[in-house]
Amino acid sequence: MFHRFSRLPVAATLAPLLLATAAQAESFSACFARLRDDAGSAGVARASFDKLTATLSPDLSVIKLLDDQPEFKTPIWDYMAALVDAERVADGQARMAQWQESLQAAESRYGVDPATVVAVWGVESDFGRSFGKRPLLTSLGTLSCFGRRQAYFRGEFFSLLKLIEQGDLRVDGPAGADGLVGSWAGAFGHTQFMPSTYQRLAVDFDGDGRRDLVGSVPDALGSTANFLAKAGWKRGQPWGFEVKLPEGFDAALAGRRNKRPLADWVARGVRTVDGRSLSAKAGEGADAAGVLLPAGVKGPAFLVFGNFDAIYGYNAAESYALAIAHLADRLRGGGPLLTAWPTPDPGLSRAERRELQTLLTARGHAIGEIDGMLGAASRKAIQAEQQRLGLAVDGRAGQKLLGLLRAAPVSVMPAKAGIQKD
Ligand code: CA
Repeated sequence: MFHRFSRLPVAATLAPLLLATAAQAESFSACFARLRDDAGSAGVARASFDKLTATLSPDLSVIKLLDDQPEFKTPIWDYMAALVDAERVADGQARMAQWQESLQAAESRYGVDPATVVAVWGVESDFGRSFGKRPLLTSLGTLSCFGRRQAYFRGEFFSLLKLIEQGDLRVDGPAGADGLVGSWAGAFGHTQFMPSTYQRLAVDFDGDGRRDLVGSVPDALGSTANFLAKAGWKRGQPWGFEVKLPEGFDAALAGRRNKRPLADWVARGVRTVDGRSLSAKAGEGADAAGVLLPAGVKGPAFLVFGNFDAIYGYNAAESYALAIAHLADRLRGGGPLLTAWPTPDPGLSRAERRELQTLLTARGHAIGEIDGMLGAASRKAIQAEQQRLGLAVDGRAGQKLLGLLRAAPVSVMPAKAGIQKD
């Protein structure tokens, strides 16, 4: 979760540590002297501040990430194909069985159903597999002193120090405070909360007296449910569902915020995809809904209720909220979307991305680890193959390129993996 600064879940870039120049190092220590003065009023004891920041040096690669415009915009069908794939559904269903007791307790306390909570966990950290790789104090310390959002990141930095000081987070492992890692912007743990969100909304759900979103799955699940409840989740209400629009639907009526009573949508010819009536499907007490068209009137359409907005509150992107919502449906046994995305070249699951990377490696491209994440090195290899095959050279891989590479295997020795890791 990192509001407004979009965090692509498919390619976690880990740029090499950028060392500061002498002038930058000097300005960093001057900045930290000021932060030390402010620590007290931010609720952090001087002694903790000194202990935790004594050896910090800036990592300016995070400033580069803060300023980077993503050079590659992920189409919604690629985003959904990678986030809601067969692997994640199977993983999520296994987690629902494994953590049934905590999930039921979270539902009875906060009103959020197990599938929704597990879907957030699966999208945020792949069920605890990927927390991010950057030392949090280094990233947040750097962002507090350089770049264009210093005031915001200072708040996050102090929140993190407080979480450590309070004992919620432990830094007594072999790596010390460097063992506390997350995204470059400071989101971390199973639920990828920012430190201030953690401070505000994390709960101790396993009863050990600490709110530990790094080491405790029950704490993470309870905290996710608490977040959604505070964001306005209504117990027993649906997030929404896929619908069919009438011919000539006025796209100007669409929009998550453009909510109307169900009867109004019925009168305008909006139908369910399974033949049930809209109101039966929405259930009793369903409030007004908006029509969401993530890919325009030719793509899948959804009727979305207030609970969709609660998910949106977790990470302000409609594509994100839709991935969580649809994954939750699939975890409950629901099927894929019935309307195809409006593209002749659908997106790839993570298994298909790994297969593509394997085929690219076999063709001599150095893309490093076969990890299913299509980062810069994979895209370079994709472009080279697009060029060779006479396709549009856009660096995007879908079913079409995968099919062509599958059909024409080569027996070139794989290039040495390594240097150009994504
Ligand atoms: Ca706990």
